[in-house]
Amino acid sequence: MKDGNFLKEHNARSMWHPMAHPADSLANPPTIVTGAQGVCITDVDGHEVVDAVGGLWNVNLGFSCQPVKDAIAAQLDRLPYYSTFRGTTNDCVIELSEELRDFFAPDGLTRAFYTSGGSDSVETALRLARQYHKIRGEAGRVKYLSLKKGYHGTHFGGASVNGNANFRTQYEPLLPGCTHIPAPYTYRNPFNETDPERLAQLCLAALEDEIAFQGAGTIAAFIMEPVLGAGGVIPPHESFMPGVRDICSKHGILLIADEVITAFGRTGSWTGSRHWGVQPDLMCTAKAITNGYFPFGAVMISEDVAQVFEQDETGRAAIGHGYTYSGHPVGAAAALACLAETKRLNVPENAAARGAELFAGLQKLAATYDLIGDVRGGHGLMCALELVSDRAAKTPIDKGTIGKIQEVAYQSGAMVRVSGPNIILSPPLVLTADDVQTILSALDKGFAAV
Ligand code: PMP
Repeated sequence: MKDGNFLKEHNARSMWHPMAHPADSLANPPTIVTGAQGVCITDVDGHEVVDAVGGLWNVNLGFSCQPVKDAIAAQLDRLPYYSTFRGTTNDCVIELSEELRDFFAPDGLTRAFYTSGGSDSVETALRLARQYHKIRGEAGRVKYLSLKKGYHGTHFGGASVNGNANFRTQYEPLLPGCTHIPAPYTYRNPFNETDPERLAQLCLAALEDEIAFQGAGTIAAFIMEPVLGAGGVIPPHESFMPGVRDICSKHGILLIADEVITAFGRTGSWTGSRHWGVQPDLMCTAKAITNGYFPFGAVMISEDVAQVFEQDETGRAAIGHGYTYSGHPVGAAAALACLAETKRLNVPENAAARGAELFAGLQKLAATYDLIGDVRGGHGLMCALELVSDRAAKTPIDKGTIGKIQEVAYQSGAMVRVSGPNIILSPPLVLTADDVQTILSALDKGFAAV
């Protein structure tokens, strides 16, 4: 490894960072992470902290998962790559597909289409949704509906259904025919509704209204995260996703669950859809499917949708879509090992227990610090604090103050993520009760400092 001063000096000289201004990365060098063990990361100066970001919502099993490392090494030795494009496949991806079929059976999902990550999975699901309708002779169903505040990756399709201007404005014009409805975001919403259940009903009514306005026969799919993640951890009322499911079914619109964050235990259930008792038509997964050990993803497909493709006799079901790394054998080996560990450790149970402790601790912090306008969580290990400079007016906090809180928290033992006015917490699901206290105490020091 190069020496620390070299790394600090050169960090952004020859690369651009995602989601950052290039000049800012040069002026304010990021944390240079050089090692990780368990749920902790170590930076170039040797400072070790609990990673309350969990990599990027993906390192559910922590950084030292030996069975995964062994599986990857063995697969690299035996077969480092072979494609799954028409005409060939590899043994490992067949084994994984059977495992995923079992895993997702309660969600009604029985086929997998592999990708290299979350944005690929979203792109794949959006395309398969249009193709599904074309096969069935409803070629006019081409539009997409989604939620404001939703995040669906950064490919053009995903950016088009994204509900946050930051990811859209610089890249417009995006895909035509994408419309966003209000999210069930209790803290701020256009209805000024503070009751989660009533707000869910208002958002569902807005969805119905939009479908009537557009014409149901023009809409291919509705895409949503079971709990909005990157948009600021916004859990809907329990009636919301089932309500969306009913409306989609009534109008022949496919429901795509974007579970890039929520699949594999994050919400305290095995999937976010199962958390709300909903079976989607398509489900996007990535991230924890390989826990950050390999870039990989899968779109899971319901039996009903699969039947439409498989029974097609017109040729329209031929899939003109795929990636060189769709079904990569090393990714498949990593996914198989991660799945086995996820089940062996029963991570959703720990996510639910530690998540409850974290949420309760954050609520205590909110009782102490007026800067905390809203505390969100209560569904496994995904929580957020929305910060304000004035509680009554809900004025979003300035960048400098939230940055200072993050910095002091880091010096005090926890890496937390800042996204706009939100501090977002998505630690590994194998977190201990002590780790939860470390995160809370680091945040406490961060708030005390400002
Ligand atoms: N969908 C959701 C819900 C996500 O949270 C993310 C990433 N945070 C993506 C899609 C995109 O995934 P990736 O960054 O792996 O392309």
